Amino acid sequence: MTLDYAICGTRNANVGLPTGSKILSEGGSALDAVEESIKLIENNPYDITVGFNGFPNLQGIVELDASIMDGKTRQAGSIAAVRNFRHPISIARKVMELSPHVMLVGEGAEKFARALGFVEEEIIDELGMRNYYKVMEGKSLEMPQEAQTLVRELFMKFDDHLKDVMEKYSVREWYRKLSFDKHGTTNVIALDREGNLAVGVSTSGLAMKFPGRVGDSPIFGAGIYCSEVAGAACTGTGELAIRLSTARLVVDRYERNLSLEESTKMGISDLKKINEKGVLHILSMDNRGFCRAFTNKDGIFHFYANSHMKNPEKRQSNFVDLTK
Ligand code: ASP
Repeated sequence: MTLDYAICGTRNANVGLPTGSKILSEGGSALDAVEESIKLIENNPYDITVGFNGFPNLQGIVELDASIMDGKTRQAGSIAAVRNFRHPISIARKVMELSPHVMLVGEGAEKFARALGFVEEEIIDELGMRNYYKVMEGKSLEMPQEAQTLVRELFMKFDDHLKDVMEKYSVREWYRKLSFDKHGTTNVIALDREGNLAVGVSTSGLAMKFPGRVGDSPIFGAGIYCSEVAGAACTGTGELAIRLSTARLVVDRYERNLSLEESTKMGISDLKKINEKGVLHILSMDNRGFCRAFTNKDGIFHFYANSHMKNPEKRQSNFVDLTK
């Protein structure tokens, strides 16, 4: 079956994919479909992992990462640790199209955005802050008393006594737990009628992250990659995808003639190479419009639509049991 266009996205992308699909059906570009879909996801106040009401960092400030990549030209743009802008995906696209660079971070990225006319605004409301305080107070995680004490100490002592706190508690253990429970990202991959692929990623990153922490989402090769034959993107514990160069390896293996299925699955199996706990979900699509999704956590799903489908369909991602 030949597909004229296709689009897929992570579990939170259903608010954006119908728009992306419409853009593709009308002959729009994969880049436009990706950007417009992600803008709608960034706008969703109930999604605590992306854009508006994204989960704040340890000090209660929302810092966003986003990236976009064009398969045909391999042009790419990303921003990281950016505050107070609602649509980091659009800023990332401007980095790709207008700047001489590929990645801008923090204050520099914010200056760039302002200069291009993006408007600063409050990007968290009461609902978002309530979620943050719930975690701060240990109410929304099944955490032992020690972890609750740790998070409060981290918050209070971060600026002056971080070293003491890190020596006293197993901070890494606590963040591993967080990365199972409180995190998320959106990935959207599109194939247009011209046969071009594009991938976009947007996130507020790991909940309670250290200020300035950058995950895999804006790092080309780690949380996102796109060539003319395939695109891949990740969600989950970003540190894992960075250490394993996950997205690039998925595309690379496909380019070396492994199937999309095998290439994507191997991205999860790579976790066996490092002795680190965490979750990783990978979404991929090739230039025929076929999509695959693999994960090391059971029960994960994604959405997919193509030129033969009326509405995006919810699909189960394939679970890889790493104990086998
Ligand atoms: N990958 C994202 C990050 O590490 C978070 C997530 O997808 O859950 O920033």
